Amino acid sequence: MQHPPQRPLRTRSGRHYPQTTAPHTVWLFDLDNTLHNASHGIFQAIDRSMTEAVAEFVRVDMDEANALRQKYWKRYGATMIGLHRHHGVDAQAFLHRSHNFDLQPLLSAEDDITHQLNRLPGRKIVLTNAPEHYARDVLQLLGMQSLFDEIWAIEHMQLQGRFRPKPSLALMQQLQARFAVPAEQFVLVEDTLRNLKSAKQLGMQTVHIFNPGTPHSALHRGRNSYVDLRTHSIRDLAQRHRKLKLVEYSSR
Ligand SMILES: [Mg+2]
Repeated sequence: MQHPPQRPLRTRSGRHYPQTTAPHTVWLFDLDNTLHNASHGIFQAIDRSMTEAVAEFVRVDMDEANALRQKYWKRYGATMIGLHRHHGVDAQAFLHRSHNFDLQPLLSAEDDITHQLNRLPGRKIVLTNAPEHYARDVLQLLGMQSLFDEIWAIEHMQLQGRFRPKPSLALMQQLQARFAVPAEQFVLVEDTLRNLKSAKQLGMQTVHIFNPGTPHSALHRGRNSYVDLRTHSIRDLAQRHRKLKLVEYSSR
């Protein structure tokens, strides 16, 4: 069963931006290991609850569930897509079951991240392959929700009935159409290099948040040609953001 595409979650940032081509930067922020450190236990909790969910929904043992989870994550960028496509699993039900754990004790983020994010001029959007309820909970618990105009989670990444999560070029083009600004006015901030690569293919600017806990991050210690700015924190990004080509929004 295919779910109809949902609209990205609009938050109450209180900012008003024109919908037509406008002189402002659109920041696309990944969530895990970008806005908070998921390597402090959240990834392990997700791995565990996702493997349990695969075992329950597909009716296999934990070893097989673990193998399936990794296979589909590698192939589709999200385990849910493989389960949905090959096993007819209900996407919403799976997303809920697979991110069902106590988040608060595991959360960790930079101390003054709200202040640092506020130093970056432009609209801010969360763009995550995780489910919406999880993204919303992370932002809310860290007091960050009001900083972002919209949350684009896995549920919103559908095109013609198919899920197109990051690093889909079609998804990036959808974002471009939605915000009606040229590609070079977007900045994708991410810890996962393959997502930055596809953003750069379309002409977006890219910031790599280096996190040693991100899978495969150690393989890419040098700077890649598709990374415009490489950093280890949002604080450092806030300090060095003028190295990017930003468009300042003016309300006049
Ligand atoms: Mg990430």
